[in-house]
Amino acid sequence: MATNITFHPGNVTHAERCSFLRAQTGATLWLTGLSASGKSTIATALEQYLLHRGLHAYRLDGDNIRFGLNKDLGFSQKDREENIRRIGEVSLLFADSASLCVTSFISPYAADRELARKLHTSHKPALPFIEIFVDASLAECERRDPKGLYAKVRKGEIKSFTGISEDAPYERPQKPEIHIDADKTSVEDAVKVIAHYLIEKGIIKA
Ligand code: ADP
Repeated sequence: MATNITFHPGNVTHAERCSFLRAQTGATLWLTGLSASGKSTIATALEQYLLHRGLHAYRLDGDNIRFGLNKDLGFSQKDREENIRRIGEVSLLFADSASLCVTSFISPYAADRELARKLHTSHKPALPFIEIFVDASLAECERRDPKGLYAKVRKGEIKSFTGISEDAPYERPQKPEIHIDADKTSVEDAVKVIAHYLIEKGIIKA
């Protein structure tokens, strides 16, 4: 039986949580971009890279959010907004817990991304919100099309599709913290760019 238990009166502060983990501070890494731009691929590689370095990281994506927390939501404008709002709140909790939360959602509307950012910046203490624009051209996304979604849109089988349909625009981030030219950048190089940024900002240790 352990006898050296220290009871910590009161709440553990964010700074204390980070100091217990030693080599990282909590942050949200918010990947945004068109469908098939490479968000999930980069997010998965980034999460693995961070975990291999012994850091605590967790990825939020369609698979673990749309089938769980947000399974009551569809794809109407209102539901898309609520989807992103909830993801913003959950990522905030991860970041507050001192984890590196990597989110990978199209998140096409600037106002929704701004809301997620504000949640982090107005939190006490403010938590880093790093918007990463995975910027692949529509032509390249259509060429990749791993799920055949663009082909379906062109055949008229999907009506409202981000980046193609007039009613579903993709609003490009104006001032992302990190901009990845995803037509030309390999997944490995994208991870290197992000890791370099995290080290430079003192979010992870070199
Ligand atoms: P998203 O999550 O943005 O919808 P995915 O990560 O599923 O996109 O990637 C779409 C396709 O593009 C996949 O087939 C993936 O292998 C490929 N891909 C992703 N990133 C790159 C890259 N940087 N260079 C070339 N191909 C990529």
